[in-house]
Amino acid sequence: MTTSTFDFDLFVIGGGSGGVRAARMAAQRGARVALAEMLGTDGLGGTCVNVGCIPKKLYSYAAHYAEAFEESHGFGWEGAAPSFNWSTLKANRAKEISRLNGIYGNLLTGAGVTVFNAFARIDGAQSVVLNVHGEPGEKRVTAKHILIATGGTPSVPGIEGREHVIDSNAIFDLEPFPQRLLIVGGGYIACEFASIFNGLGASVTQLYRGEQVLRGFDNEIRHFVAQEMTKAGVDLRLGADVAAITRTAEGLRVALKGGGEVLADAVLYATGRVPNVKGLGLQAVGVAQGKAGEVIVDERYQTSVPSIYAVGDVTNRVQLTPVALGEAMVVVDQLFGPAAGKPPRSMAYEFIPTAVFTHPSIGTVGYGEETAREKFGEVTIFRSEFKSLKHTLSGSTERTLMKLVVDTASDRVVGLHMVGAEAGEIVQGFAVALKAGATKAVFDSTIGIHPTAAEEFVTMREPVKR
Ligand code: FAD
Ligand code: NDP
Repeated sequence: MTTSTFDFDLFVIGGGSGGVRAARMAAQRGARVALAEMLGTDGLGGTCVNVGCIPKKLYSYAAHYAEAFEESHGFGWEGAAPSFNWSTLKANRAKEISRLNGIYGNLLTGAGVTVFNAFARIDGAQSVVLNVHGEPGEKRVTAKHILIATGGTPSVPGIEGREHVIDSNAIFDLEPFPQRLLIVGGGYIACEFASIFNGLGASVTQLYRGEQVLRGFDNEIRHFVAQEMTKAGVDLRLGADVAAITRTAEGLRVALKGGGEVLADAVLYATGRVPNVKGLGLQAVGVAQGKAGEVIVDERYQTSVPSIYAVGDVTNRVQLTPVALGEAMVVVDQLFGPAAGKPPRSMAYEFIPTAVFTHPSIGTVGYGEETAREKFGEVTIFRSEFKSLKHTLSGSTERTLMKLVVDTASDRVVGLHMVGAEAGEIVQGFAVALKAGATKAVFDSTIGIHPTAAEEFVTMREPVKR
């Protein structure tokens, strides 16, 4: 079969971050592209747009107003804080998300991508079967290449009373507002929603089974953010887990392992996500999968079936939108050539910056102190902890932590971490410096912007640890 005997050059399964980017870029390079999204136009944008990054960040903004009203008194603003209307926030969020779904749809059709409102199943190395919504029977299409970009879905363990809990997909439209919210988990989602609902006025209890939340982050950052979240009002219980959940007249009664109970209006399980592979037909066609069902890919994102590729959360590696986007562009460059005048893109997994939108937030890039020591041997640590200028008048006791991890032998800054306001905004810029291999000497020779919190990163002179 030559390319022209296929219905399409590329068939993308999934209209999320990775899928939309791959489809749009491939079509712009002249390829004949189709994309299937099982949720139709309403699903375009995937997890990030519909039930992830975007609505989460909007809710985080909403939650920040509570402290802003409170803190304004120190700056001379008078009067009671306005009250919060959950229905208004939900309705405004839904409107904005619909607008974004529309934009994604237009981007795809504008680039010439054929969009199917359909669940897709792979039924051969180069063929896909579609269950198009509203159409009887199945439709079979062929493509020279297939890209799996089906993302992931929340995973809730089989606890007693599982039917009473919600996952992160359901939290955005929860009705009514949960005055008492219990959150299980200690990862990104659990910590972010603990801060958000605490800010919005709920009484939040967070249970984490381990000794400290956010496993994998720099230890000092984990402890510091946990302390700040607790100070802000989250009842964070470490080494704690659920034994059983029952519905009673006073609400959901959550019995804890080792004794004790918590009463809640809603229980959110944020205990990780699993790859979306159900019904995709991977086994039949011979696509190799890992233990959690994830699609196994090589460094070119090719699966064990050479015509089938996979990117994003379905590969169960780094679950971040910019990573899915980056991977999608590498696949497109490989299959259809790079953009005019540009070299083919590549993806590096070292120095991926990330933020956790807790209150206060975490921004981080590179190695934590512990992992840096394992990788580089001797490291030098610079650290600054302070009350930000704003809080000298606001009355807030929130503190900021900034930390640099330097490879002693080369003087290269290999880790940069922060807990504080706008940490993601600050760390994004420094991520460029770390990627470029900046040394501590380069940081020292950089002039700060005064008065900012970020200037601390270029003014830390004395190491605290070697
Ligand atoms: P997805 O975006 O999940 O898209 C997959 C799409 O495929 C979905 O639309 C699905 O409906 C569709 N699909 C699945 N199976 C089929 C099928 N068989 N046929 C047709 N369609 C199918 N990342 C960040 O970088 N920053 C953040 O702040 C952030 N916040 C998050 C907050 C939450 C609550 C969650 C859950 C995630 C967050 N993430 C964040 C992670 C980010 O959303 C994901 O990493 C990203 O969306 C992955 O993109 P993807 O293309 O792999 O999959
Ligand atoms: P994570 O993998 O980050 O965290 C899962 C948490 O649940 C961990 O604390 C884990 O504990 C705990 N856990 C797992 N299984 C159980 C269980 N059976 N009982 C009790 N606790 C359990 O997953 P999330 O769901 O928080 O988020 C998924 C991914 O989405 C993130 O890893 C991230 O990549 C992405 N994301 C990114 C965001 C951002 O960029 N700001 C925001 C939200 C999500 P343990 O550590 O002990 O294993």
